[in-house]
Amino acid sequence: MSRIRAAFWDPTGKRYGIPTYPWRMSPPHLLTIRQLAAEGLRPGGQGVQAQVLWRSRRHSAPGVRAAYLYDIRFALPKRAATPCQLAALVKANAARRTCPDCLRDVGYVLPRHLGTCLDCAAHEAVA
Ligand SMILES: [Zn+2]
Repeated sequence: MSRIRAAFWDPTGKRYGIPTYPWRMSPPHLLTIRQLAAEGLRPGGQGVQAQVLWRSRRHSAPGVRAAYLYDIRFALPKRAATPCQLAALVKANAARRTCPDCLRDVGYVLPRHLGTCLDCAAHEAVA
């Protein structure tokens, strides 16, 4: 093991407070949020179980970087929106497309700075 890898090798969390692994050396049951999501899972109530530390040479973010890991055994299935929630979303989006002046659903989200549809805004500018 290289020196850097050894520095980040702390499965008991004695040095870093939580179990810590070098890049690509974490056990298979510990996944990042993105990896869980790819499996259709979410962390559930569990907090961060472990971390991966690595030294980044990227100009935008040099230094030691961390990725937080969650235990797949405590993970829960991702919540799908209920029909009620979906209906509320449809309604909210329709409201964002409905002009308060001409009361039409204009098919696009009203520009916030106008507060009306483009037609009404143009008429107002002329008047
Ligand atoms: Zn309008």
